[in-house]
Amino acid sequence: MTPQSEDFSAWYNELVIKAQLVDRGPVRGTMVIRPYGYRIWELLQADLDRRIKEAGHDNACFPMFIPESYLRREAEHVEGFSPELAVVTVAGGKELEEPLVVRPTSETVIGEYMAKWIGSHRDLPLLLNQWANVVRWEMRPRMFLRTTEFLWQEGHTAHIDEADAMRETMWALDAYAAVARDLAAMPVVPGEKTPGERFAGAVRTYTIEGMMRDGRALQAGTSHYLGTNFAKAFEIQYQDEAGKLTLAHTTSWGMSTRMIGGVIMTHGDDTGLVLPPRLAPYQVVIVPIGRKEQGEATAAEARRLGAAIKSMGIRVHVDDNRPQLSPGFKFNDWEMRGVPIRLEIGPRDLENGVATLVRRLPTVEGQGKEAVPLERVPEIMPQILADFQAFLLARAETFRGDHTRAVEVWDDFGAQVAEGWALAFHCGRAECEDDIKADTAATPRCIPAEGPAEQGVCVKCGQPSAYGKRVIFGKAY
Ligand SMILES: [Zn+2]
Repeated sequence: MTPQSEDFSAWYNELVIKAQLVDRGPVRGTMVIRPYGYRIWELLQADLDRRIKEAGHDNACFPMFIPESYLRREAEHVEGFSPELAVVTVAGGKELEEPLVVRPTSETVIGEYMAKWIGSHRDLPLLLNQWANVVRWEMRPRMFLRTTEFLWQEGHTAHIDEADAMRETMWALDAYAAVARDLAAMPVVPGEKTPGERFAGAVRTYTIEGMMRDGRALQAGTSHYLGTNFAKAFEIQYQDEAGKLTLAHTTSWGMSTRMIGGVIMTHGDDTGLVLPPRLAPYQVVIVPIGRKEQGEATAAEARRLGAAIKSMGIRVHVDDNRPQLSPGFKFNDWEMRGVPIRLEIGPRDLENGVATLVRRLPTVEGQGKEAVPLERVPEIMPQILADFQAFLLARAETFRGDHTRAVEVWDDFGAQVAEGWALAFHCGRAECEDDIKADTAATPRCIPAEGPAEQGVCVKCGQPSAYGKRVIFGKAY
């Protein structure tokens, strides 16, 4: 595999295929998500779906074909999405009277039905979510990060007023940040997008941004306050207590299979994937070693140990079905595929009543292989996995800290965004953002929610800062 330091993109492109996460789809920009990759998605999905339901949202499913006229009703929305749309003009052997857009996102079609279902203030808030595939035609596709078709959830909610809709917008952002931190061990920065980076049709867009191991930013989830823009376009209104017809305030928010790309690029190294235990299809792999009778004895012990570990609620795999492969090959293979913990059982181990435990990365410096008494392995495994999860989060936080710097003058800006994030003041003008992008390929990632209040002058043009705090700039995926 190409080393990260030599060519990060090549490393990524080779790894997603080699680790059996995906295959290229037959249509350019599409991907086949293989079982090992899909399991990661299912683990993330299960946790996020639980959070969504616990907060009172109901899942529904809307059609993937959307009348083109729906998109036209919100001018900014259609303008933003037009270049990416796939449109069906022929179906059932006939030219269609109205072209159908394959959903790129569902604000419009859901808006149409919100209008139908909402009558009185008692119908609010209306809290919907859907798990679906969406299509956005990609010119520069990249597995998981930018694919023509991808999987996601999209939350769509309607509220009585701005305050309630903003509460919802921030709830979704917090949920995404928690999923990223707790499951993916990605220490994301939540914040607001600058006007130039807003979702097409939104009043305010919020994001969580993670730093990848090449110093670039990944937008890993977004939450939008849509104001009454879509309510006006689709007549989403309710009768208030006085009987007056009033526009609802709506939100939308989404997290997608892009997160898998985030996990790969936050933790992976030259050896391959490094999966956080909470998203690992196999948290533990057991490799029995030995030939003939010795091999049978270690395989039997591996299966027994596997069952005991599984009974602790841990996802474990016993690699006892590939006798043609050497132990060394299997070790490399599981390391490349990012399994957090490997247990080896050889004839000598069996004699001594131990298994050899190897972490995908040492959680303390100098840590190597360690022998653990077989009977103790199941009971200590939950803590070992929790420690590994915490280690990955801390390591990613340290990496981000080491690659983030405040930048005061334009001369220092280019060098900083070449290796990480620059914290800089900005005037807030879209033309100035464009100049920065043209010169350095960096864009404003977000106005961080937790950044300290500070005043200064724009790092590029010298005009006064627009946001009362520094903006995070970086090159992005
Ligand atoms: Zn400026």
